[in-house]
Amino acid sequence: LAKEQGAEVKRFSKGMTTIAREKLVLESDLRKGLERGEFFLEYQPKMSVETGGILGMEALVRWNHPLRGPVPPGEFIPLAEESGLIVPLGEWVLHEACRQNKAWQDKGYDPLCMSINLSIRQFRQPRLAEQIGHMLDTIGLDPQYVELEITESMTVDKDAAFEQLKRFKQLGVHISIDDFGTGYSSLHYLKNMPIDRLKIDRSFVSEVMSGESDAAIVSTIASMAHHLKLKVTAEGVENEEQLAFLRTQRCHEAQGFLFSRPVPADRFEDLFLRQKKL
Ligand code: C2E
Ligand code: CA
Ligand code: CA
Ligand code: CA
Repeated sequence: LAKEQGAEVKRFSKGMTTIAREKLVLESDLRKGLERGEFFLEYQPKMSVETGGILGMEALVRWNHPLRGPVPPGEFIPLAEESGLIVPLGEWVLHEACRQNKAWQDKGYDPLCMSINLSIRQFRQPRLAEQIGHMLDTIGLDPQYVELEITESMTVDKDAAFEQLKRFKQLGVHISIDDFGTGYSSLHYLKNMPIDRLKIDRSFVSEVMSGESDAAIVSTIASMAHHLKLKVTAEGVENEEQLAFLRTQRCHEAQGFLFSRPVPADRFEDLFLRQKKL
């Protein structure tokens, strides 16, 4: 029987596409990478549209693969999601981002709000809020300096999402809907969900000066957010024209290459925190 199974495995691997094999390798590398500490975070500033001052930052995970070099999150996040590795990886991201935020506060910099991306598998863990609460206690970070970013797709199961978001609110962290406008979401749910902010997806922001319909979409999302008393962030702001347009739409916050690409912690500190203290 063992022999037969061996033959079966062989036939299977022979038939496997290169892509599938690549995926398996990358997945096992991901697991090892997590153990070996190959991941780190970069931070991108969130700026006030009105004053141009810094309001906070978003933590973005990076993987420095020992052989391949940097692997973009667009490649390894879906894989981590598929394999379930996103749960320990996401836990590490949460802890590292909060630890860093607290370390900056301890250095005497003005406290800022750290945005952290959640993946759907993480979001579905019923004990996530409890774990985050415990982690914040241990680190000593005030929950008001944490914002969790979820996507519209996570609110499809609306009762479960509602319960989870309520637990987050009780904890005292902020909640934003990332990539807003690209996914499924009912305005009715939106009205009832305990959220604080919409982040308008980059795809709309990048075309506001060229596509009339994108300008209309941004403008509509912004005005809807105002009516629902939600804050608005525009992502992917790359030039002054886009920023000027966002100002006319009374967007609160902007993020994008116009201000800075995501940068490692020490660089972020030099560029955005040091001068504020002096
Ligand atoms: P996202 O959450 O929508 O993050 C914004 C992405 O847009 C980042 O890509 C950022 O580098 C990029 N970006 C920011 N400003 C600009 C701009 O002005 N122009 C352009 N062209 N791009 C800009 P990144 O870092 O490659 O991340 C891609 C996605 O991977 C993120 O999209 C997020 O969905 C996911 N991701 C990143 N870090 C984490 C994490 O820690 N956990 C989870 N679950 N997902 C993460
Ligand atoms: Ca995000
Ligand atoms: Ca986004
Ligand atoms: Ca996006």
